[in-house]
Amino acid sequence: MSKRAIIGYWLLILLPTALISGYAWHMLDKTGERLETTARETVQQHIRTIAEGIQLAVSGVQEELLTSLRQLPPENPLRELERWRDTNPLVRNIFIWSPPDMLQYPPEPPAATAEEQHFQTRYEGLFSGRIPWIAASRGLRPETPQYQLPAASARADRTADEVPGLKSPGPKASERQKVIRLARSSRKSSAAPSFDSAMPQGGWIPWFTENQLHLLGWTRSPAHGTIYGLELELIALLSRLLPDLSADFIETGTLILRDGQERVWHQVGGTPPEELPPSPAFAVSLSPALPHWQIVWYADSTGLGSGASRRGIQLMGGILLALFCAAVLLGTLLLTLHARRQWANARKKTTFVSNVSHELKTPLTSIRMYAELLESRRVTDRGKQQRYLDIIAKESRRLTRLVENVLDFARLEQGRKRYRMQPLALAPFIDECISAQSLRLAEAGFAVHSPPPESPVYVRADRDALKQIFLNLIDNSMKYAPQGHRLDLTVEQEGSLAIIRFRDYGPGIPPAQQHKIFEKFHRSDTSLTTRTPGSGLGLSIARGLARGMGGDVTYDPDILDGSCFKVILDRAEGKTA
Ligand code: ADP
Repeated sequence: MSKRAIIGYWLLILLPTALISGYAWHMLDKTGERLETTARETVQQHIRTIAEGIQLAVSGVQEELLTSLRQLPPENPLRELERWRDTNPLVRNIFIWSPPDMLQYPPEPPAATAEEQHFQTRYEGLFSGRIPWIAASRGLRPETPQYQLPAASARADRTADEVPGLKSPGPKASERQKVIRLARSSRKSSAAPSFDSAMPQGGWIPWFTENQLHLLGWTRSPAHGTIYGLELELIALLSRLLPDLSADFIETGTLILRDGQERVWHQVGGTPPEELPPSPAFAVSLSPALPHWQIVWYADSTGLGSGASRRGIQLMGGILLALFCAAVLLGTLLLTLHARRQWANARKKTTFVSNVSHELKTPLTSIRMYAELLESRRVTDRGKQQRYLDIIAKESRRLTRLVENVLDFARLEQGRKRYRMQPLALAPFIDECISAQSLRLAEAGFAVHSPPPESPVYVRADRDALKQIFLNLIDNSMKYAPQGHRLDLTVEQEGSLAIIRFRDYGPGIPPAQQHKIFEKFHRSDTSLTTRTPGSGLGLSIARGLARGMGGDVTYDPDILDGSCFKVILDRAEGKTA
């Protein structure tokens, strides 16, 4: 396969892979973005729903309390109000106020408790008649907190920013007394608004003082204009709202209920407040039920809005894409290697066919030539006739060996080779093989040394297969080591194995070639090999046959002057068949 063809195929695979990967990455990014937006919208929706639930719950409580106020018994309503305060955890303080500015209950100090004195101080603007009830109930925009200063001079309609004492602690006891006195004395003030019969029958006043929200509910008696009212206990109200604040998605962040001063009233989620980011991911206002209160959501570092889910998708997608690219590249690489091997094999097969044809043709030509000579009866000399007949016989044997090899190769390749395993005494078997080749060996000037083993060695083998192995190894020594003129054939025992060594004194096999010579069709790239006919099958067949009998043929790399092949077989106890 040419280099250009390989580059072409790789480009054909790499370009679409790169395009697909790029597009997939783009889609992944978009999907991650979309998922994150959807998840964020879902959480936002959840939080909005929670906020609506809280608003509904607060309005429900307020409506309930207002209805109760409206239904106060005309005779001794104070007793009923006191009972509520003492029994209903939602009621913190109660009051009765008559127009224009008469606070009937709680009583004046010292009869009032500390809490009642605080209560009067908190709502001094209302109780003194300086701030009309109607304005407090209706006119307050939820977004603009109306903070009430403890000082009598403070204007009730100032906003949080305008009020200098907003962040200051509540009034001291002495100041409180002063304020209450002022509130009660102000009823003589001519500026105090008179009772307006058109004012609403009741409502709720969100009142900001001492940096805190208070909720004051009131109803007016249509008969005599007296106002009955109560202050909500915010903590008790919140404890009713808390169940609304739990949700599954909270696992991915922190949900906080906080007031206008960013004070945390309740938190769901594990992150400590000091570790939260400076600004929340979302904030939903609880106005008008709880003006300036908010539910805020902080996504944790692995949660929504942090980009973590998108990064997670990108990471997973990236890994999958990398795997996809790696699989494509690996597949292409393996295919290329396989194709190259196939291509090399195909080339070797072609060479093999031409080599075998050449090897077949040479003995056939000799046989034909000498047979024709004899047939023509022109050779009358009996000595010559005998020599020609010997050549014909020798070349036929060579032909047979070659055909045997090719047939064995085909059987081995197709897994059809059958072995008739039997115990063989090695020494006589080796002698038999050598004497069968003695003529050829003698002609090539080869002396074979095969000292008999100290004690008889038996192997389990197929006679014909073992003969073929020995023949191939002897043939190779004669082909590739003719200058050594010597072949040593020795037998050793190693445990349960018998090792037969074929040692010649030729050029040997270079280390780089030693593992390749057993591959089928492989012929070493040396001038000697080029000069010598062969098919590259001899050693591959020898090893295949030996392995088929449970043994092996290996090359001994320790021999430096010549070659040494080892035939390894299982030993057997018994007699020669
Ligand atoms: P072939 O002899 O038909 O080429 P083989 O499988 O028998 O095929 O041998 C493979 C290669 O191993 C040969 O081409 C040769 O280069 C090398 N080889 C085998 N035997 C010897 C040896 N005794 N001495 C040197 N080289 C050898």
